[in-house]
Amino acid sequence: MEPNHKRSGYVFNIQQFSVHDGPGIRTIVFLKGCPLRCRWCSNPESQESKPELAYNQNKCIGIAACGRCLKACPHNALRQGEDDKPVALRDVCKRCSSCAGACPTTALHTFGQLMSIDDILEVVERDNVFFSRSGGGLTISGGEPLMQPDFTVELLQAAKRRRINTTMETSGYAKWQTLEQACHYLNTLIYDIKCLDSSRHREQTQQANNIILENFVRLTAAFPNLPILVRTPIIPGFNDSEEDITAIINFVKGRPNVGYELLPYHRLGQPKYEYLGKEYPLGNLTLREEQFARLNTVKSALDNPCLSKVTY
Ligand code: SF4
Ligand code: SF4
Repeated sequence: MEPNHKRSGYVFNIQQFSVHDGPGIRTIVFLKGCPLRCRWCSNPESQESKPELAYNQNKCIGIAACGRCLKACPHNALRQGEDDKPVALRDVCKRCSSCAGACPTTALHTFGQLMSIDDILEVVERDNVFFSRSGGGLTISGGEPLMQPDFTVELLQAAKRRRINTTMETSGYAKWQTLEQACHYLNTLIYDIKCLDSSRHREQTQQANNIILENFVRLTAAFPNLPILVRTPIIPGFNDSEEDITAIINFVKGRPNVGYELLPYHRLGQPKYEYLGKEYPLGNLTLREEQFARLNTVKSALDNPCLSKVTY
C-alpha cells in the first residue's frame, strides 16, 4: 500500500494536456515562489511564496448589483471605486481569500492554495492513460519549484513510487543539495540559462548567475545519464545577440545528455500583472520573428550532434 503523503505545498495552477514541457502529454503542477524577478516573467502570480489576491475588474458586475466582496472582507481592505466596482487596498489586505470565496463571477480570485502531495497526485493520475500512450507524465514547474525544497523532493519521490514519469523545470537558482536530491527522482530536467554575463543577468532577474552556472556544471558531472534540456528565453535588448547565444551554446555543449532550445519572448502573462495590481515591466516590447529565426540558425550551425538529442 502507498504511504500517505500529507505534506502540503503552495500550488497556483495545475495544467493538463501540456505538450511543451517535457516528453509526451503532461500535467504541469505550478508551484509558488521564485528567487528571481525576471522582467519578462509570464507567471507573475508565481513570484511570491504565499497566496495573492487577483482582481479582474472586467468580470465584476458592480457593487450595486452584487457587493458581496465588501461584506465578506473582515479587514476593510476593499472600498467602493467611482465606477461602482471594488478597489483592493493591497497594503491592508491580509490575503485571507474571504472576498474571492464570496465573489460569484471570479472577478476576485486567489492565486495559490495549499495542496497535499496525495491531492496533487490524485489529479495527475487522472491522465495516466494519456501518459502511457504518449510517454508523458508529471512536470513540476513554477515559479522555482526548489523554493519549496522538501515538498518538491517528496512530491517527485511519491510520483516515482507510483511509476509516474517526472520532469522538473528549474531556473537552477537553488542550493546544490536540493537540486541534487530532486534529480534522483527525475526522468528529464529542463534547465534555464538566460545569459552568461552576470551583471546583465542581475539587472534583468535581480540575481547574479554564478549559482545557476555552477549548479549546471555539477549537475552534468553528477548525472551524466539524466536528459537535460537547456532553454533560453530570447528577450529583445537583453540576450538576443548572436554573441549571447553562442556563449551559452559553448558553455553547455559537449555533453551527450544535454539538448538546447530557444524560446521566443511573448507577453501572454501581461494581463495577470494588472490583476495583481502590478505594472508590466517591459511595456510594449516585441521580438521580431526574423530575429528569432536568425538566432535559431546560429543555434543550428553551432549544435553538435549531442545537443540536438534532447528535444521534445
Ligand atoms: S483577501 Fe481577505 S483581506 Fe484581502 S481583500 Fe479579500 S477578504 Fe479582504
Ligand atoms: S463579489 Fe465579485 S462580482 Fe461582486 S462586486 Fe465583488 S468583485 Fe464584483
